[in-house]
Amino acid sequence: MKILTADNIGFCFGVRKALETIHSLLRTGRKTYMFGQLVHNPGVIESLRTLGAEIVESLDRVPRDSKESFLVIRAHGIDPQKKEKLKRHFFEVVDTTCPIVGKLFSTVQRAKREGYRIVVFGKVDHPEMEALKGYVEDAVVSESPVKPERKTAFASQTTMSISEYSIFLQQILQKYFEYVKEMKIFNTICEATAKREREVERLAKENNLVIVVGGKNSSNTAKLARIASRFTRSVQIESERELKKDFVNYDKIAVVAGTSTPKSDVEKVSNKLQILCQEGR
Ligand code: SF4
Repeated sequence: MKILTADNIGFCFGVRKALETIHSLLRTGRKTYMFGQLVHNPGVIESLRTLGAEIVESLDRVPRDSKESFLVIRAHGIDPQKKEKLKRHFFEVVDTTCPIVGKLFSTVQRAKREGYRIVVFGKVDHPEMEALKGYVEDAVVSESPVKPERKTAFASQTTMSISEYSIFLQQILQKYFEYVKEMKIFNTICEATAKREREVERLAKENNLVIVVGGKNSSNTAKLARIASRFTRSVQIESERELKKDFVNYDKIAVVAGTSTPKSDVEKVSNKLQILCQEGR
């Protein structure tokens, strides 16, 4: 059995920055909260909890010690009005919105000011899209083609698939091109995720099994598993404990991971696979 680990593994810079920030706040000794899960990875969240960080789920659940505590806003960003309200409750709100996500927000806001209807290819319940609605309230967020207005600007959630965004736009154009008078298309997909998408596609074509390591609630991890499954068998696991013995029946296995998966999780999966393979001989 040949086991190959993808080149693009480990946290993207947005997640790394958010984690570095929360670790440095925790080191101050002041109570530190995160607004929602800082990273869509249960192992990482668990280790932050061990260090004393806790999650604030919503504005209605502000903890009693908020006035003495830090609150960290995750890389997905936040509705600006919500952020202002949170600032009134906490000692300090530390915003780790990824600059690439911030650029998406300013892009759609500018296009809205220019009179465009905003259509975003994204998951309506994803925190990044919930935050975006705070910038452009009437933005249409959808994963399937929608009828545009005569003047429409298109953008994408930063972690969506490049190929699926392209299909989304083609389907809209095929159906509504005559209706639309003016359109703008922004490629707002983050290069860190696009790179992994290209790599997983190549690896899926060259291997019999692709193991995608990452949180089940991570949108970009699920996307990698979906893309790989178009070409070969793919499974998504959160840790090496989910590896099955029959995986050793595949002669070529690739291990890939989402941008919120620690490099060490990927290494543990590869190492355990090697052990299973040796045991199976
Ligand atoms: S995936 Fe891209 S946009 Fe999202 S946090 Fe990472 S670097 Fe930022």
